Order: sequence, then structure tokens, then C-alpha cells
Amino acid sequence: MTGNDDFRDHLSNVDSSGRRVWMYPLKPQGLYTKYRKYVSVFLLAFLILTPFIKINGRPLLMFNILEGKFIIFGSIFWPQDFIVFGIAMMIGILFIALFTMVYGRVFCGWVCPQTIFMEMVFRRIEYWIEGSHTKQKLLNKRPWDRDKLYKKTLKHTIFLLISFGIANIFLSYIIGVDALWEIITDPVSQHLGGFVAILIFTLAFYGVFAFVREIVCTNICPYGRLQGVLLDSDSVVVAYDHQRGEPRGKFKKGQEREIGDCIDCGQCVQVCPTGIDIRHGTQLECVNCTACIDACDNIMDKVGLPRGLIRYDSENAISRNEKWHFTTRTKVYSFILVALIFVEGGLLLNRSNVSATVTRVAGQLYQVRDDDSVSNLYNIKLVNKTFDDIDNIILEPLNLDGDIEVVGNKKLNLPAEGITEGTFFLIVGNESVKPGKNKLEFKIVSGGEVLTKVSTSFFSPN
Ligand code: SF4
Ligand code: SF4
Repeated sequence: MTGNDDFRDHLSNVDSSGRRVWMYPLKPQGLYTKYRKYVSVFLLAFLILTPFIKINGRPLLMFNILEGKFIIFGSIFWPQDFIVFGIAMMIGILFIALFTMVYGRVFCGWVCPQTIFMEMVFRRIEYWIEGSHTKQKLLNKRPWDRDKLYKKTLKHTIFLLISFGIANIFLSYIIGVDALWEIITDPVSQHLGGFVAILIFTLAFYGVFAFVREIVCTNICPYGRLQGVLLDSDSVVVAYDHQRGEPRGKFKKGQEREIGDCIDCGQCVQVCPTGIDIRHGTQLECVNCTACIDACDNIMDKVGLPRGLIRYDSENAISRNEKWHFTTRTKVYSFILVALIFVEGGLLLNRSNVSATVTRVAGQLYQVRDDDSVSNLYNIKLVNKTFDDIDNIILEPLNLDGDIEVVGNKKLNLPAEGITEGTFFLIVGNESVKPGKNKLEFKIVSGGEVLTKVSTSFFSPN
């Protein structure tokens, strides 16, 4: 670090008068950029193809927040599976916290869809149409002429088309490809809501990738804001080796170098999509995109110095020449994470395909019958979480000996992904129950298979 903390007083993309500074990053090239390209192609293919992949006619992944229906690897989850989701979310948050503490913002640089689309799709198109970062700068400063009009129109048309594509993919994860296909092929008037949703998403993605850009990472993304809390001096981040690089100084050909290895060429700053100087140390704006590692490695190759002046490392490892190690905090988080994964696995394995709610009908404590028996009246609600019909459902009381009488002799059948409701009496001989409140459990059975169990209570006269 340089000791000059002026950079901490303002954002890299805002000038002293508070106006936005537009970023013109130099196109990165190098080993890390090459590997990031491979990862991006794989993740983009996964993102685009997943909605089309089906298991037994069900999508591989679907997050229908409108209907509260979620399909994960072909298994359907409903709001009734809230506890499974709640624990999955806790595991997810802890995983992110732990992962960030140990490996910094690797997710932002390698996996985040914002970075992948921005740096590997939209920025690449910009380089292709408008040229290098310096040419882009000149083009923006130039008065409007035919060439500028052509380039800008072409770029923004392609940006809009890609945003339209992303909006469709995004929507297919919510409503599924079949429903999306209906919106696309049917007359607009039949799916006005869906059409408006596609339009809004398209404009939102276009706005983000054409104009908002790195501000999403530096100002909006909550994960980015959390870095200051999650990172510590042992976290692995994209870091400048100040021990080796300082004091920096210009490179003079043929001269033996007696100062640090940083030749102050500024390439690491020029490639940065968020406009920061990594030589100041870890900053919230750094999305770990690795562009500065590649830029510096290329310079080191040119001047005949070892690579890795900017590299993945922890602040402590660089400052104290210590080896990176697990901290107590990391160990505790790891232990909790593993425990939660076991709980989640157990919940998933024991998750029933049918959820049942049995409640006693309000205002009907019990009914005394002529044949020395007493009955309680119950409402039952069954939810089928599968894609198959479940017919001839019967109820069996477990800890009381009694008979079930479904009101209206209604058959309890559950349609696929559907809900069935009914009302029934449980009739118990007086000698079989103790006066007052009795604990009661029902088995819900179909075709000899126990679908689920549910607890309630039975009241008899005192
Ligand atoms: S400092 Fe380096 S890794 Fe961080 S955002 Fe800038 S170029 Fe990417
Ligand atoms: S690219 Fe490397 S040598 Fe050039 S200024 Fe950055 S750290 Fe120094």
C-alpha cells in the first residue's frame, strides 16, 4: 500500500463534483482472462439450456414465485416446504459468508451473471463495434457524424436484442419454457401481463448493461456492500505485493533495477472495469475480475521480472510472509455449515409428497352419540406436491380406536399438484377415551402407502 489514503474518500467512478466518470477499460488479455472465458461459456450455456432440460416432463429448475411453486432437479417444492427452504437459505447465506471470508470475491469475478454478461458479452461487443478503449473515448467525444451514428445504432440494437434474449431466459426460469412459448406465439392480447413482463425485463437488462454497468457492483449489489464485514486480512483476494513492488519507479531499459518491481506503467489501472488502483490495497470496488493480474503479468514478462506482482493472495501472507491458514472464525463457520448441510439433507430425504392439515371444526367441541360413543368433527386439507394423482386416500387414527365418517361420503382423491379439502367425524367408544382432551395422530394412507402423519386432539365429555 502507498500510504496515500485519498482514494478512500471518493468512488473511482465519481469525480470531485459528484458526476459519473464513464469507464473505458483496456481490453484484458492473458491466462486468467482465457480461463474466465471458458468458465463464462460453460455458465452461459448452462443458463440458456437449463430451462429446456426436463426430467420426467418437469423442468430441471423452475422458480415460479407467482404460484409459489419451485422445481429443483425435477422435484417440486411448495410453500408447505417452507422449513426446507428456510434452512436452505440459511445454509446459502452461511456458505456465502464463509466462502467470502476464505476466498474473497471469487464469485463476483468468475460466476456472477452481472460480471459475465458485462465483461464477456456486452463489453466484447463494444470492443468489436467501437474499437479499443481509446477509440471508444474518442468516439464519445466526437460530434455526431454518419460513422458515429452507425456504430451507436448498431451497438444499441444488438444490446437491446441480447437484453430481450436474457429477459426471455429469465422469465423461462419463472414460468417455464412452455408457458413462455405460448406468450411468444399467441396474440399479444391473450398474454398482456406476460408481454409487459418481457418488455420491462428487456428494458431493465438493457439499462443495466448499456448504462448502469459497474455501478451495480460498486453501489447497488448488497453482496458487494458486505465485503467490508466479511473480508479479513487472511481472506484470499486479488492483491498487489507491495513488499516486492515498492518503491515503484519507471523501467529503464538495460539498467540494473535497484528499486521495487512495479514499473509504474499504470496498465493494472487501465484494465480495471471499476477504475481502481489495486496498488492502494483491497477496495470494495474490486470485483476480483483478475484483469489487473493478467495486465501486470504481461508487463512482468516484457521487462523480464517474475510474474505474480499482482496475484491471488491474502494481505497477511504478503505483509508478514506468512502462509495462508484457516482462522478460528473460519473453522467455526465451517462446522456450522457442515451441520446445517446434514440437517438440510435429512429434511429433504424425509420430506413427504403430501402435506396434511387436520383441524377441529370451530365451535363443535364434541358430539355425544346414542350408542355410547362420542365424535369430534374435523376439517382436513391435503396438498399433493407431486405431478401424479393420488386416489382413495384413507385416514387411520393411530392412538385412538375409532371409525372415520367422511361428511357426504366424499372420496378423498388428490389431483396432481392439487389440493383437496373435506370434513369428517372421528367416532370413538366412550370407554376408549379419557374425559377432556386426548392426544390424537392420524396416518394418511393411499394404496397401502403411508403418505404422511398429522397430529391433532380429541375431546370427550368430562
Ligand atoms: S482491481 Fe483488478 S481484479 Fe479488482 S476489479 Fe480492478 S482489475 Fe478487476
Ligand atoms: S501493471 Fe504491474 S508494473 Fe504496471 S503499474 Fe500495475 S503493478 Fe506496477
